[in-house]
Amino acid sequence: MDIHEYQAKEILRNNGIPVPPGRVTGNPNQAVDIANEYGDKVVVKAQVHSGGRGKAGGVKLAKNSEEVFQAATDIIGMTISGHRVNEVLITPAEDIDTEAYLGILIDRKTQSPVIMVCSEGGVDIEEVAQRNPNSIRKLRIDPRYGLFRHQAYGLARALYRDQDLVKQAVAIIENLYQAFIDSGASMVEINPLISTPTGCVKAIDAKMSIDNNELIKHPEIQNYRDIQAEPRAETMARESGLSYVKLDGNVGCCVNGAGLAMATMDLVKYYGGEPANFLDIGGSSNPQKVVTALKIITSDPNVEVILFNIFGGITRCDDVARGIVEALKEIEIDSPIIIRLTGTNDEKGLEILSAAGMSAFTSMDDVVKKAVSKTLQ
Ligand code: GDP
Ligand code: MN
Repeated sequence: MDIHEYQAKEILRNNGIPVPPGRVTGNPNQAVDIANEYGDKVVVKAQVHSGGRGKAGGVKLAKNSEEVFQAATDIIGMTISGHRVNEVLITPAEDIDTEAYLGILIDRKTQSPVIMVCSEGGVDIEEVAQRNPNSIRKLRIDPRYGLFRHQAYGLARALYRDQDLVKQAVAIIENLYQAFIDSGASMVEINPLISTPTGCVKAIDAKMSIDNNELIKHPEIQNYRDIQAEPRAETMARESGLSYVKLDGNVGCCVNGAGLAMATMDLVKYYGGEPANFLDIGGSSNPQKVVTALKIITSDPNVEVILFNIFGGITRCDDVARGIVEALKEIEIDSPIIIRLTGTNDEKGLEILSAAGMSAFTSMDDVVKKAVSKTLQ
């Protein structure tokens, strides 16, 4: 689950990391009121689940009430990489001496947190990473032992020469690692981590994702969920108890059982296709679940063909067939639907389908070949 900058900053603040104060609003007049509390110069920042806001015009410095009002009016309602801005964060503008990068993520290969630092932080970090990958220092942490002080020192020294800045950075890195672990994060990023002309190190931007499987332990973080900012398909899937993961291909997959869903995706790849999603409709299969599944799959504009692979056990084929027929009444589906249906009540299921002018395969191999061929035409 992605959270907003202001929410990530709250977590950092609670973990002792220096972060300038700030408040959010969706109203330009209120933005002016907040700015007045902070004094002369503020930054107005789009709150969206996306980076690169600065370059998109979603981060603006404002020196007086008129500028705050104008910036808030411009930013609220704008779209940044597909995300509509509903709120802005108003925060005092900091004087910046240097901008560094500090991030932690879970590296799946080594199954460990990796801390990354780079002294050249800021909006061009992607370009720095491409041009000079060695300038980003990475340290794998053994989660059994955590982060040792000398490791934090090593990282901090890669950022600063001045001993006082190094000391502050050590504390920030240690606190960030603790915040990362304690909140069940899969990613946290401070970019930029700034040093000021008066010699302070601070986090003026924060980006954070929480592992969905950890959320159950953190009700306070669950409250950070912003349903409006999340892809509609994911919200629908979560609310109806379907496991759905969007992928980049064009073969929409609807399968019962996680194992069969994985095998189906493998076979799609084997025949030269690209799955558009992982979707497990689960064991029990009331027709309504199938309708929701089809709504979710068809909400992805990349989908060119819909592949059903149902091996009925607890799942009843007639329920699935009924769901498909019902969905075709409720929603307009342009893509061909290619179905495999075997197992419990498959004969009934086939009857329902053929009454609606459809047919089904019995072999998984055949249905996947057929579905993939539709995308290669
Ligand atoms: P991002 O583009 O989404 O990563 O948004 P950031 O919060 O990182 O802001 C982008 C850039 O705006 C930063 O790298 C800074 O250069 C600048 N910026 C943000 N906040 C301040 C501030 O308080 N003072 C100054 N002078 N610049 C800021
Ligand atoms: Mn940033």
